[in-house]
Amino acid sequence: MDLDLFREYGHRFVDWIAGFYENIESYPVLSQVKPGDIKNQLPTTPPGEGEGIEYIFEDFKRIILPGITHWQHPSFFAYFPANTSIPSLLAEMLTAALGAQCMVWQTSPAGTELEEVVMEWVRRMLGLPEGFSGVIQDTASTATLCALLCARERSTDFSINSGGFTGEGKGHRLAVYTSEQAHSSIEKGAKIAGFGREYVRLIPVDERMQLLPKELENAMSKDRAEGITPCCVVAACGTTSSMAIDPLRPIGEICNKEGIWLHVDAAMAGSAAILPEARHILDGVELADSFVFNPHKWLFTNFDCSAYFCRDPRQLVKTFSITPEYLKTDVDMKVKNFRDWGIPLGRRFRALKLWFVIRSMGVKGIQERLRAHIRLAEEFAGWIEEDERFELVVPVSLNLVCFRYNPKGKNLPEEKLEGLNNALLNNLNRSGKLFLTHTKLGGKYTLRLCIGQTNTERRHVEDAWNMIQTSRLVS
Ligand code: PLP
Repeated sequence: MDLDLFREYGHRFVDWIAGFYENIESYPVLSQVKPGDIKNQLPTTPPGEGEGIEYIFEDFKRIILPGITHWQHPSFFAYFPANTSIPSLLAEMLTAALGAQCMVWQTSPAGTELEEVVMEWVRRMLGLPEGFSGVIQDTASTATLCALLCARERSTDFSINSGGFTGEGKGHRLAVYTSEQAHSSIEKGAKIAGFGREYVRLIPVDERMQLLPKELENAMSKDRAEGITPCCVVAACGTTSSMAIDPLRPIGEICNKEGIWLHVDAAMAGSAAILPEARHILDGVELADSFVFNPHKWLFTNFDCSAYFCRDPRQLVKTFSITPEYLKTDVDMKVKNFRDWGIPLGRRFRALKLWFVIRSMGVKGIQERLRAHIRLAEEFAGWIEEDERFELVVPVSLNLVCFRYNPKGKNLPEEKLEGLNNALLNNLNRSGKLFLTHTKLGGKYTLRLCIGQTNTERRHVEDAWNMIQTSRLVS
């Protein structure tokens, strides 16, 4: 394909993308296809001869697009968002065009240096402690795995890195602590890092779903008495089910007293700390060893972009660095080589999109959007409270509302409520007009409505409420 053709299709694709965003509300939010629908339309063997872009593009529209769930639809209220925005999208086009692999400084000096600068901007925006150093990882799951590996090595004097669990590091039984509401990536990370699932302690929570520090202390004492070493605590700042905020300060005090690694998983909620009025969610973060949040969730930046901060990057480098001859460069002593700050060697140029977003929206523009989302969540929660048929399962936290159908005075059994709320959820999602997901809180089947999509306005939340109210509710 020559560059003239690229120019032609490039313009056409940009036109198509602009139209797609103009008309995004006409697409079903949740893809309405059935399992196998997409695969059945695709040949099982690759084409022998090259095909024209025109034909591939037609198939993209005809076959692929119906199989897309539209995360950029303003009525996407499910899970947590994975946002984009126009500045981010434009930057991703440039990143793709450059095709740079930013594993070490010399493989694209701007890749490394922009990442350093943008991470420092982000640190200041969130009010994270001075001296915390940032690096961009692909996902919070990877960042948490990095934290667990660093914790493992620091607590064993790097003996598992050298001798493995069966050699020099033999006999280490290390425990990881997190709340019973914490994200599954913590258990997954603990399995991968070799702690073993049996050594993950799920600490009980209070009625607001926040970890109980006293229970944490008890669990650690019990482990010590059995010869197990407390190694790492992962505190949740914004749990996935209900956006519960663990009390970082008392947790941090326990960890600091005992020399235990504290990692803070703020994958979704971290962005809220950009708002001075919400910064209290990070009270005590200066006691943490590492911290992660996802600009790809609630900072209007394309997936993937996860911001990982650590108090002492030397721990990262000591845990991950391996330098074969072919990766050595003359400037290694003068620069940061981010390949040593994480798991993969190869690194995408992710800082560019974040730089575009922050510059084009400005801190104020970002704050306005975050505030608008939080206000809308509070308003929606107010509507729930006023309607006798619905209840909030836990108080609204930031931009997440957890609620369910449970008509006052009817005393419906839990099983019946689960069936009714599940039917309500399926009805709503089948309409294609909005997308919500569910969880269970204290055994209660709960609907989650998260307001965080870049373009969500009041009218979308109003429409959602109207649909929820008018959906056939039989009890
Ligand atoms: N932590 C929390 C609290 C989350 O809600 C999520 C995902 O929603 C994750 C971690 C995992 O994020 P990622 O997909 O970036 O690995």
